[in-house]
Amino acid sequence: MRLKNKKVLVYGLGDSGRAVIKLLKKHNAYVSFYDDNIKFYEYVGFERCPQNENWDLVVISPGIKCLGNPLLKIFKEKNIPVISELDLAYLFCKGKIVAITGTNGKTTVSMLTNKILKTAGFKTFLCGNIGLPFSSICEKTTKDSVIVCEVSNFQLETSRFFRPNIACILNVKPDHLDRHGSFEEYKRVKGKIAENLKSKDVLILNLDDKEAKKMILHKNYQYFSKFKLKKGVYVWNYQIFINRKPILSLNDIHLKGDKNLENVLASVSICSHFKVSSQNFRYALANFVPASHRMEFLGKINGVNFVDDSKATNVASTIACVDAYKNEEIILLMGGQGKEIEYADLFSLNYKIKEVVCFGQDGKNIEECAKKFSYKTTFFSHFQDAVSHAISTAQDGDYVLLSPACASYDEFQSYAERGEKFKSLIFGGAGESES
Ligand code: ADP
Repeated sequence: MRLKNKKVLVYGLGDSGRAVIKLLKKHNAYVSFYDDNIKFYEYVGFERCPQNENWDLVVISPGIKCLGNPLLKIFKEKNIPVISELDLAYLFCKGKIVAITGTNGKTTVSMLTNKILKTAGFKTFLCGNIGLPFSSICEKTTKDSVIVCEVSNFQLETSRFFRPNIACILNVKPDHLDRHGSFEEYKRVKGKIAENLKSKDVLILNLDDKEAKKMILHKNYQYFSKFKLKKGVYVWNYQIFINRKPILSLNDIHLKGDKNLENVLASVSICSHFKVSSQNFRYALANFVPASHRMEFLGKINGVNFVDDSKATNVASTIACVDAYKNEEIILLMGGQGKEIEYADLFSLNYKIKEVVCFGQDGKNIEECAKKFSYKTTFFSHFQDAVSHAISTAQDGDYVLLSPACASYDEFQSYAERGEKFKSLIFGGAGESES
């Protein structure tokens, strides 16, 4: 893409926007930027009235909401091309791209895939929604690189050119409906990961997910499943098979729960296209450390077990966590900023939960729903009080799960801050950890 002397507007000044500005400047474009958030006014280069200019190109960041956006409408009327950060990075990328999307499990699968490929000797880059913008590393890639890119719906929404060589859709469950308007639209956007695939590219789908299995958007698709298949990646007889060849035992996996097994199968499916040996799979899995706040076992304190699953910000992810601990005595901490997702999807499954401790902005709604299904509940306006209650009420052997099913923004900057607060409340004077 020729950028020299082009007038380019970067719309959205988060991490991706900043990386895009750097890339564009390096290629001698005239770069201006805009953000709906006025705190950026003081920055040199900030464009106060972007609607009045005739841009050669607009690069939009994933944080910008598109539905009903007046500025985007003006750009469209003026025929100004708008591309995503992912698009721009793609156009500069030289390696093979693995793109992973899904409502839940993206980070886990991206990290595990990266770990396996690195173990097998590939020169990998882990980037995208995981925190490192694709546009910040795209120019470092060579023909031999493998780019493992975690891709969110927000990134796909405005993408036009992005074309992975291997695309994977893990699962599709209601989330971010406030931004996309409807579940149908959310699904349509997820499917965009496959829109530019060519015949030799591969689309990997989860056969065990009701919606993902239907997203056959490319001729060359491949399923994975926790149940026996004729081909592809599947589980049989306590082993993982790639096209009838056993590659791993389930004993090699120390991640908890059925959904994490799906995550492993997704990574194995992706890596099966790189001819990874059984030995390398096993080594990578044995040494894999998942990111914090994802079903993270914190330890046993005074006989009570604590799990930090603060990253569970929708109902489907909370179900994954509760299911993973379904044989235990659970005290479940749920609440925060709701996303208009049905809590009944969880409570109707009738998991054994000793008490649902609700908190925050949507806590009352959660409590009301849990009560309909005869669960014992309590409500606290603030997270800290809810956690204190859970600690004081838990008995020997119980599992206190923080798996909120909500965003954290009513009380915190991020899910990570919420998880750290949880840790500090637990470890702050509660006694020695036993494991
Ligand atoms: P994402 O990057 O898509 O948010 P993560 O790997 O960070 O996904 O996991 C977020 C949360 O989702 C975890 O804390 C866990 O509760 C849940 N989870 C992980 N994998 C899955 C999955 N395959 N299906 C459903 N829920 C999952």
